[in-house]
Amino acid sequence: MQIATIFDIKRFAVHDGPGIRTTVFFKGCPLRCWWCHNPESQLPEPETVEIERKVDGRRVPARRTYGEQVGTAELMEIILRDRHYYAESGGGVTFSGGEPLMQPEALSELLRACRKAKLHTCVDTCGHVVATDFERILDDTDLFLYDLKHMDPLLHLKYTGTGNGLILSNADRLLEAGARVIFRIPVIPGINTSDEETGRMISFLEERSDRCREVHLLPYHRIAGQKYSRLGKTIRLPEVKEPGRKMMETLQKRFEQTGLEVLIGG
Ligand code: SF4
Repeated sequence: MQIATIFDIKRFAVHDGPGIRTTVFFKGCPLRCWWCHNPESQLPEPETVEIERKVDGRRVPARRTYGEQVGTAELMEIILRDRHYYAESGGGVTFSGGEPLMQPEALSELLRACRKAKLHTCVDTCGHVVATDFERILDDTDLFLYDLKHMDPLLHLKYTGTGNGLILSNADRLLEAGARVIFRIPVIPGINTSDEETGRMISFLEERSDRCREVHLLPYHRIAGQKYSRLGKTIRLPEVKEPGRKMMETLQKRFEQTGLEVLIGG
């Protein structure tokens, strides 16, 4: 049995794939996106930080650990608790992160167990992983939620810490292998929302529209401030505001003009 390092489990999730789902968040990510709203997901090992708790109206020092190691059998026991909800809603299980493919052995064991239990499976990935790790989970994954963050390799490097070459080539490998893929674009005003960048994203998607017609636009949320300060990390985008409804709808229309199905949110 494999052990997975996870930092959260969300039951009754409705934004991580179709229907009602359980989402398991793996710890460890090869990217360092400036807008990451789960900074506690980035390091592969559990992290303990100093915090304050309120006890009887007073603030007292305490500790909090992000991340724990859990056996795959225990995770399956949690996942299977809601199998009736999955069946009723067309839902299932999503493995997210961080990057779930940073722990390929545990992930593939969980996906095999889900397949055996006839659960719909989804892997939410940044794509920057060894190509052969995708191959080993291909048969047991019903849907890939695949992030596209920036099409310009230098700006991708600047804002995430890695280039996008491996990400784009892995996306094509998955599509060529017949995997079902939904591309997801985090919308970060001023970072990947220029006309030029939107045009590059649309061209990429149009060229692959015979194999993938659906795209999700995920609005940036400024919700992780406290987690950054607890972890001693610096917020890299202090000035960037969340995109308003008008901006999201304008982008949605622009993507839709190409015939793609575009959803705001997951
Ligand atoms: S890929 Fe996701 S989890 Fe990893 S750093 Fe970027 S936003 Fe955070």
